Amino acid sequence: MKIIETEVIVIGGGATGCGVLRDCTLRGIKAVLIEKNDIASGTTGRNHGLLHSGARYAVKDLESATECINENRILKKIAWHCIEPTGGLFVTLPEDDPNYHNKLLESCKFADIDAKEISVKKALAIEPNLNPNILSAIWVPDGTIDPFRLASANILDSVERGASVLTHTEVQRIMLKQNQVAGVQCYDKVAKEYLEVYAPIIVNAAGVWGQHICETAGIELKMFPSKGSMVIIDYRINNVVVNRCRVPSDGDIIVPGDTVSLIGTTSRKISYDKIDELVVDDDEIDILLADGEKLIPNVSRARVLRAYCGVRPLVAVSGEMDGREISRGVVLIDHKERDNLQGLITIAGGKLMTYRLMAQMTTDLIAKRIGNKKRCITHKVPLPGSEKRVGYTKKIKYFSGIPNSVVGSTHYRHGERVHNILSLQKRNYGLICECEMVTIGEVEYAIKNLKVKNLVDLRRRTRIGMGPCQGELCAYRAAGLFTEFGEFTPDTSTKLLKDFIEERFKGMKPVLWGDGLREFEFTYWIYQGLFGLGLVEEEEQ
Ligand SMILES: Cc1cc2nc3c(=O)[nH]c(=O)nc-3n(C[C@H](O)[C@H](O)[C@H](O)COP(=O)(O)OP(=O)(O)OC[C@H]3O[C@@H](n4cnc5c(N)ncnc54)[C@H](O)[C@@H]3O)c2cc1C
Repeated sequence: MKIIETEVIVIGGGATGCGVLRDCTLRGIKAVLIEKNDIASGTTGRNHGLLHSGARYAVKDLESATECINENRILKKIAWHCIEPTGGLFVTLPEDDPNYHNKLLESCKFADIDAKEISVKKALAIEPNLNPNILSAIWVPDGTIDPFRLASANILDSVERGASVLTHTEVQRIMLKQNQVAGVQCYDKVAKEYLEVYAPIIVNAAGVWGQHICETAGIELKMFPSKGSMVIIDYRINNVVVNRCRVPSDGDIIVPGDTVSLIGTTSRKISYDKIDELVVDDDEIDILLADGEKLIPNVSRARVLRAYCGVRPLVAVSGEMDGREISRGVVLIDHKERDNLQGLITIAGGKLMTYRLMAQMTTDLIAKRIGNKKRCITHKVPLPGSEKRVGYTKKIKYFSGIPNSVVGSTHYRHGERVHNILSLQKRNYGLICECEMVTIGEVEYAIKNLKVKNLVDLRRRTRIGMGPCQGELCAYRAAGLFTEFGEFTPDTSTKLLKDFIEERFKGMKPVLWGDGLREFEFTYWIYQGLFGLGLVEEEEQ
C-alpha cells in the first residue's frame, strides 16, 4: 500500500481546503490535500459566484457584512482574474416594504460598505433590462467571482510551491493513536487503490460532509444542510448584479456570469442522508422564474439552460429554524479543546467570499500547534494569473496574429498565465468550444497542468460545455484531445465523453421544455444517433 508522510492533511478541495493548503505552503508547512472528487466539485462549484459587497447581510448580520467587504477588497487585488467587478443594484419593487431601502443604506454605512442611493433613471441606464416600475435603487460594490478559477489558482500556486494534491481520492476514515490523530485511510478512485497518509494535524475542510469525517474519528459535529437551487438562462441578461431590496428571500438575485446569467436562490432544510442525492424541485424552478421576471421582465423570454443546487455547509446551533436564519459565520473548531482529540481541526460555515479569511484562521491555529512563527501573507501575494494587471489592449497587441476573441477569453480566464497557453502555432489556437472560445492550447494546458482527470474536470477549468450549447458541439472534440494530451486510450476517452454528456443532462432534465427541449433532442441525435454513445456500456459488459 502507498504511504505518504506529511505535516498537515487537508480533507476537501473546496475553496476553503484549497485556501488552507495555500496558506500552509506559503508559511513553509508541508501539506497534502485530499479531495474525493474534483477541485470545487462540492458547494464551491454550486453557488451564485457572487462577490458579496456585504450588503445582503448588512441589516441582519453586521459581522458577516464586514468580513465580506474586507475580503471583497482583498480578492480584487490578489485574484483579479477570477473576478468581474460588475457592481450591483438593490432595487425596490412596488410590492416591497419601502422602508427597507433606508435601513439598508444605514446598515451599509455601519459596515463600511460604499453603498449609495441612485435615481431610478440612472439605475435603468446602468441596467436597461431592469423592471421599469422599480421605486428606488442603491448601488453597491458587488461583483462576480468564478469559484472554479479561484480554487484552481490556489491549487496551482500550492503545487508550484511544493504541496501535494490527490483528487478523486476519498478519505474513508481518520486513524487515531489514543487521543491523537495519526493519519487517514483513503481510496484512489481512478487508480483503484488504497493508500494511507500520515500527519500529526488533520484539517476537516469537507464542507457539509464534515459531519461524516468527524464520525469516522468517533466525534460529533452536527451540520444543518440547507439546500439552495438556481437556474441558468442562456445569455447574459444583466451586466451588474441585481438584488431585490428586501429581507433575503427566494428568487431575489440575478447574477451575470461569463456568457450567461443565473437566478437564485431558494433555502430548504434537507436531511443529512440526502446531501448526495440533491434534486431541484419543480416548484423551486417556478418560484425562481416568477420572481426573476419581477426584477428583469426579459427572463420570461429567455431559454432556461439548466438548474442546479448546492448545500450550505452550516453548522447546526440548537433552536435555529431556517437555513437563512442560521448563522453564516465562520466556525473553527479545535477538537483538542472541544473533544480532547489532539490534531483535528474543523473549519466550516462562512462563504466562498470568506474562504481566504477562513484559511488564515485555520492556518494560524495550525502554526500555533506546530510552533511555526511565520505570519499569513495570502492577503498580499497574488494568485497565479493575477500577478500583474496588463490590460486587454496590450495583450491583443502582444499576441497579434491570434484572433482577438481568443486572446481576450484566454486572458479573461487565466490572467497572466495566458502566456503559458497561447503560442503563435496555428493549431494551438484552433477552437474547441465556440460558446466560450476555448482553444486546443487551453485544453492542453489544463490537462497537463491543472489536475484534470476527465471531461467534467476540464469543464471546471476551462468552461467547456458551460455555454448555450451545453457541450453539444465541443464535448466530442475535447474528448479526442484527451487521447492526444493525456494518458488515455480512445476507449477511455469515449467513456469520459459518455459520463460528461450524462452529467450535463442531469442539470438540463428539470428544465426541458420549448427551445431547450428541441436543443436537447438535437444533442441526443448527435451523440446517440450519430456516435452511438449509448452502446458504450453495452459493449463493455
Ligand atoms: C445555493 C448557494 C448559493 C451560494 N452563493 C454564494 C455566493 O454567491 N457567494 C459566496 O461567497 N458564497 C455562496 N455560497 C456559500 C459557498 O458556496 C460555500 O460557503 C463555500 O463554497 C463552501 O466551501 P467549502 O470549501 O467549505 O465546502 P465545499 O466546497 O463543499 O468543499 C468540501 C469538499 O470536501 C470534499 N469531501 C467531502 N468528503 C470527503 C472525503 N471523505 N474525502 C475527501 N474529500 C471529501 C467534497 O467533495 C468537497 O469538494 C452559496 C451556497 C449555496 C448552497
